[in-house]
Amino acid sequence: MNILTTEEKNIILGSIRDIPDFPKPGIIFKDITTLLSNSEALNTLMSHLEKRYKSYDLDYIAGIDARGFIFGSILADRLGLGFVTIRKKGKLPYTTVAEKYSLEYGFDEVEVHIDAFGDTEATQDAKVLLIDDLIATGGTAVAAASLINKVGATCVEACFIMELGFLNGREGIDAPVYSVLEID
Ligand code: AMP
Repeated sequence: MNILTTEEKNIILGSIRDIPDFPKPGIIFKDITTLLSNSEALNTLMSHLEKRYKSYDLDYIAGIDARGFIFGSILADRLGLGFVTIRKKGKLPYTTVAEKYSLEYGFDEVEVHIDAFGDTEATQDAKVLLIDDLIATGGTAVAAASLINKVGATCVEACFIMELGFLNGREGIDAPVYSVLEID
């Protein structure tokens, strides 16, 4: 098993910027733009994920709109895999399958192209890694993982750069969960 050293963890953690009260009072927003622009931190993170997932025999990486696209597509390229976008409602141009999830007030919806993981027969066998920058309540990731399964593929793991563990978001996800950094 490939485990991050404390030094590597600190390099990644130290590159993420906390923005208090964004987008609303009481939220500490974890800004990953400073991780992306820090070549040492980005390379440390992506090399760790590459080592972890190269033995998983994956077929696709699926990233959640929008920050999951960045980490997911870098990882897909490093592993020689295709990348699939799971998008907010109304953004995908072809036939989609959708999944709603609850927010504090109201609901939101994510979508994937119906053929994102290949034609029906190929889809049955597709092993997919789901990735996003952060899991909070887990609503978005639960909906995204269920979309992967809805179109006939298998979500073999859900991966997050950060996990707000106190919100227990991982509990609803119907797949193993891996987080690089636990945030208290
Ligand atoms: P949730 O559905 O509650 O797990 O929220 C996860 C989604 O919201 C992810 O796509 C995150 O990018 C974003 N998100 C939630 N909380 C934060 C936060 N404190 N800092 C940055 N992004 C967040």
